[in-house]
Amino acid sequence: MPLSANNPTKKTWLETSANTDFPIQNIPFGVFLTRDDIITIGTRIGDFAIDLGALHQLGYFEGIELTDDIFMQDSLNDFIADGRKTWRLVRNRVSDIFLEGNSKLRDNQDHRSIVLFTMDEIEMQLPVDVGDYTDFYASKEHATNVGSLFRDPENALLPNWLRIPIGYHGRSSSIIPSGTPIHRPYGQTKPGDDGIPGFGPSKLVDFELEMAFITTDANHIGHRVPIKEAEDYIFGLVQFNDWSARDIQAWEYVPLGPFLGKNFASTISPWIVTLDALEPFRTNGPKQDPAPLPYLQQGDNKNFDINLQVAIKPEGDEETVVANSNFKYMYWSMAQQLTHHTVNGCNVRSGDMMGSGTISGPTKDSYGSMLELSWRGQNPVLLKNGKERKFIQDNDTVIMRAYCEKDGLRIGFGECNGKILPALD
Ligand code: MN
Repeated sequence: MPLSANNPTKKTWLETSANTDFPIQNIPFGVFLTRDDIITIGTRIGDFAIDLGALHQLGYFEGIELTDDIFMQDSLNDFIADGRKTWRLVRNRVSDIFLEGNSKLRDNQDHRSIVLFTMDEIEMQLPVDVGDYTDFYASKEHATNVGSLFRDPENALLPNWLRIPIGYHGRSSSIIPSGTPIHRPYGQTKPGDDGIPGFGPSKLVDFELEMAFITTDANHIGHRVPIKEAEDYIFGLVQFNDWSARDIQAWEYVPLGPFLGKNFASTISPWIVTLDALEPFRTNGPKQDPAPLPYLQQGDNKNFDINLQVAIKPEGDEETVVANSNFKYMYWSMAQQLTHHTVNGCNVRSGDMMGSGTISGPTKDSYGSMLELSWRGQNPVLLKNGKERKFIQDNDTVIMRAYCEKDGLRIGFGECNGKILPALD
């Protein structure tokens, strides 16, 4: 199945700006509420949202095996379950419909008025009904920094880290789409001299700069996914802000790991950019030494060159970019994570989400959390308004951006935004 939609020379008849995250080569998938309050599955080119349910009803997907209501749903789970061949046929067809020179929809004003929306007419929803969410810990720099801060700088990286893509099972109920504000969480914190734990709103609310991938049905229980097939089961990626309360985390995490310091909210960007669209941006990851066990050995070009950025915007002020990182810094690839996840026979389903873990780079301005950027508050980060931040304050908005760029082609994810509101009473 050729990826004709990826052809970098293609142009669309829709008006788009030159530096859009969503050129005709992207064609991401999402779910939105239309101006008539109808929920539909759609895609985006430039600043136009495109109703795929309406396109399908009007016959534009003729010849592709799709059930009648596949796009008239409130999640992409069933479409994702249809598998890679169908995703590619649909993406290639959307590319054809909007290709410069194709007049079928372009010159049909009635159809255009049904199919096309401007971004301010719609409201983005969660793209998938996330069954299970797993969070990995796949950046060596991040694991080393956190090991130094929470435990012991001499033995920051534990012996298993270089052998296993370390992960834990997160919580899917609190995954929310970009733009949804959240209240500062309450919790217990480490006891003082009197031995009694603190209790109240977290004082150390943090972001985690992550990407997450979304899977299709990958295996039956008891069976495993070989590394060579793993990418066939990855539908696409979103940006992922895995909000964390460091003071709650520090008190609760021994012996079983992350719990309430991590599960109060995780924000995702609403458009799933397909793994197919990211194909031109493959790159080598960090050298893996020692070599992974044979079942995890993958070969070259297993990583993706995706620029990542975090900005903090205080209420009523301009934003300050506080970190620039890259998805290519991941030590363990997505395929290695998925293969390891199923090596014991654990079944992975359509709509499952796997977080990368915080993606920190090698330099101090590429760290993916305030914990690392401020080195647990020792080196506050200076904002453009002259104020400092050690962690996230009330009414701050954290803005994450992700995009790939190569030979004049830009494929992006839009924004992943979340505002921290004061704690509820
Ligand atoms: Mn995380």
